Amino acid sequence: MRVSLDTRDFAKYPFLKESQQFMLQNHESVDTFLRSGPGKVALKYAVERIRRALSPAGHTGEGEDPSLPSDNLGIRLEVSSYALSRILVSCAKDRALIDRLTRFEAERAFGFLEYEEEGKRGYIARQVGFTLEKSALSVSRYVEVTAGMREERWRLVNREIHEGQVILESLEAEELLKEQIRVTLHSQLPLDVPSALCSDLVPYVIRVQEAFQQRMIEDYGEVDESCFPPCMQALVSALSGGMNITHSGRFALTAFLHNIGMDSTQIVELYCRAPDFDVGKTQYQVEHISGRGGAGTEYTAPSCAAMRTLGLCTKADGACGKVNHPLNLYRNRKRGAGAPIQKKKEP
Ligand code: SF4
Repeated sequence: MRVSLDTRDFAKYPFLKESQQFMLQNHESVDTFLRSGPGKVALKYAVERIRRALSPAGHTGEGEDPSLPSDNLGIRLEVSSYALSRILVSCAKDRALIDRLTRFEAERAFGFLEYEEEGKRGYIARQVGFTLEKSALSVSRYVEVTAGMREERWRLVNREIHEGQVILESLEAEELLKEQIRVTLHSQLPLDVPSALCSDLVPYVIRVQEAFQQRMIEDYGEVDESCFPPCMQALVSALSGGMNITHSGRFALTAFLHNIGMDSTQIVELYCRAPDFDVGKTQYQVEHISGRGGAGTEYTAPSCAAMRTLGLCTKADGACGKVNHPLNLYRNRKRGAGAPIQKKKEP
């Protein structure tokens, strides 16, 4: 079925090929565009777009401005800010940042999709690879879309399957459509941006990285060692006890401490407790993991699944529950939920 899109749809769904074609009408190269007046404005919009993706409201769509531009220039800025935000997070080389941006874009697009008539909804869903046959998805497609969904109800063993198709309630189909948008956008990142272009964009990339670090500090507040997840507590205890920890253990702990807002000096001080402490080497490693050295890649602490693979998950106090990331457990504990189990006092 033919569906007609209007220019406002390009602003709502900037990932559509039609939106990209609309942007290419001027036949400008990215460099020429970025040097132009509208290009500079679009870069500011792109930084702002990433800031919105980082804000807590950004994930729920609550922060979305319901007034979309209706003039051609406004729409061009909206679509180009989408494209440029992808370039900026690709230059930042930070998976957590890419994750935040793609979640935000999926929420944003889905917020608009909910109000579209069926024909247009179906068309846009198909563009991101989501085709529902009679409220069911083929098993292989289902497994692909739900790979990042942790709730028990999404596990294949808990689903009704009929002739190779997973049956879905209509609200579930909606959730999966949003997830499919996220998965599709995530699979396209990072972009292979020429290093010369990334160099030109350094001031904007730094703004984005600073905004992300600030967000992390706001999310996690003051560092509180008593709220550390058991795996990280075990690594700190090993250091304090004068034991050497493995390379992957160091990586996990350093990335975790950096992610919760500890500065490089404090992290290096913690490593002073290690028997093989070498200040220069430690400083180099910490700077590297926190993105201030080498290729500028900022790392995020490994997920629980990765920690298990590395043999670093301890689950010692049994209080981890269903968290899938040590950072989530730390945040929950800081907010008072999932507090560590208090040991009974000796009589
Ligand atoms: S379940 Fe996750 S948070 Fe808990 S100890 Fe294992 S890796 Fe750490």
